[in-house]
Amino acid sequence: MPTLKEQGRKKVISRLFDAIAGAIAGSGVRIKAIGVGCPGPLDSKKGIVLSPPNLPDWRRVPLKKIIEKKFRLPVAVENDANCAGLGEAMNGAGRKASSMVLLTLGTGIGSAIVLNGKLWTGKGGFASELGHVSIDLNGPKCGCGNKGCIEMYASATAVERRRKAAGKMTAEDIYKAAEKGDKVSRRIVDETAVYLGAAVANIINALDPEVIVLAGGMAKAGEKYFAKIRKAAKERALKESFKGVRIVPAELGEDAGIIGAAWRAKKQ
Ligand SMILES: [Zn+2]
Repeated sequence: MPTLKEQGRKKVISRLFDAIAGAIAGSGVRIKAIGVGCPGPLDSKKGIVLSPPNLPDWRRVPLKKIIEKKFRLPVAVENDANCAGLGEAMNGAGRKASSMVLLTLGTGIGSAIVLNGKLWTGKGGFASELGHVSIDLNGPKCGCGNKGCIEMYASATAVERRRKAAGKMTAEDIYKAAEKGDKVSRRIVDETAVYLGAAVANIINALDPEVIVLAGGMAKAGEKYFAKIRKAAKERALKESFKGVRIVPAELGEDAGIIGAAWRAKKQ
């Protein structure tokens, strides 16, 4: 079901109620808890949605309380990228690994850190925001206030912006065109692989994870693209930390967030 956020918060919540009621009715099992993935920033402990840039009229919405009142079941509300990360860690590209980092390349770059089957949410519940790892002190100003955030270079939006001069295309089209030999697209895709490799090297140096999962349209860009990201990461990461790390595409597509939200509800 699309969010249709432009219709306003009340209508979105009423559609959310319909989606939950439909899922419960169609499940054929007794439901014990409800997990919800939502754009951040949000207070995942209290289940309060704070002020997501993608949901303009949502300010301090107590989503957990609202859904608990309606359905009389325990509710977990979690950042959508964290849900996707938990889904991939439990059932997707990160299964069998004890440490996994997810980067999801969409409008921005979302991320999740899953350690031993549990999300690392930080002291205030705001981790992880790896899209705001800076790769250039003098780079373009990001919405977060920092400069040169990886989000400004490797999100789908950033890839599309860089291609714009030569005609507007979606990120997925650009990856496809590059694959078919379009020179401008090829250059942009190659640059993006290096930017991503630099960000991935920072993550490897910080966390030494077993798996780094990349999700979003580019996850379909193919093995050649991933080889470039790995090469760029290897050139920059500490040798010992790079050894044995897997850098792989996501496996669950759009279901990752739903599966992860269910795990989040189960683990609360
Ligand atoms: Zn930023």
